[in-house]
Order: sequence, then structure tokens, then C-alpha cells
Amino acid sequence: MENSCLFCRIVAGEIPATIVHRTASTVAFRDIDPKAPTHVLVIPVTHHANVIELAADPAAAADVLAAAAKVAELEGLDEGFRVIFNTGAHGGQEVFHVHAHVVGGAPLGPMLA
Ligand code: IMP
Repeated sequence: MENSCLFCRIVAGEIPATIVHRTASTVAFRDIDPKAPTHVLVIPVTHHANVIELAADPAAAADVLAAAAKVAELEGLDEGFRVIFNTGAHGGQEVFHVHAHVVGGAPLGPMLA
């Protein structure tokens, strides 16, 4: 846990979040500023700054993807959805604890803004 990390503090229960799914290794919670009817963030409980660090931990990476798929099922995203890892400055990453955005519930168009 990194005390200065917002998402580590959500994992620890120090900051409230609307949790929709939890496993031993992941937490999924609703984005505070949703961009679609369903907008859930899936994170590993262990701190990895970005998807590059997550990829170096295959077990954690697999758990995050499995949790993202479960969230899509729980949210009823039968018509499709996106899983997005914003990475670095050009990717628009703002929180440096890796998170998969699970976005859906409506047609999303060719790209997210
Ligand atoms: P990024 O740009 O990929 O890093 O996305 C960070 C996301 O975290 C944004 O979509 C924010 O709306 C979201 N976010 C920031 N703070 C919180 C929070 O406290 N709870 C839930 N979502 C948050």
C-alpha cells in the first residue's frame, strides 16, 4: 500500500467508493465521473503504477482482466463494452495505480473522447 495513492486508499477502505465486485486480488468500483451508463474501474489490490508494470505481473494482470469480464457480466453489458488502460501523459492517465476502465451500456462511437 502506498499512503499517497488514491486507489490504494480505496482498497484499504480509507476513501469511500461504490464497490461493484471484489476478489482477493482486485477491487471494482464505479468511476466518480462516469462517461457512459456503466463506467467501472477495476484495479489490482497491489500497487502497480500502470499497465506496463501490471504486464510484468502476469497473475495480477490475469486477475484484473477476469474481474473486468465479470463486471461486464454483472452490469449486463451483453451488447458489448470497452476495457481501456490509459497510460502515461499522452494516454491521459491521471491516477498512477493501474486501472481498467470498463465502459458500456450504450453505443460508444468510434473512439472515446
Ligand atoms: P485515468 O485518466 O485513466 O487515470 O482515469 C482516472 C479515473 O479515476 C477518472 O475517470 C476519474 O473520474 C476517476 N476517479 C478519480 N477519483 C476517483 C474516486 O475517488 N473514485 C472513483 N473514481 C475516481
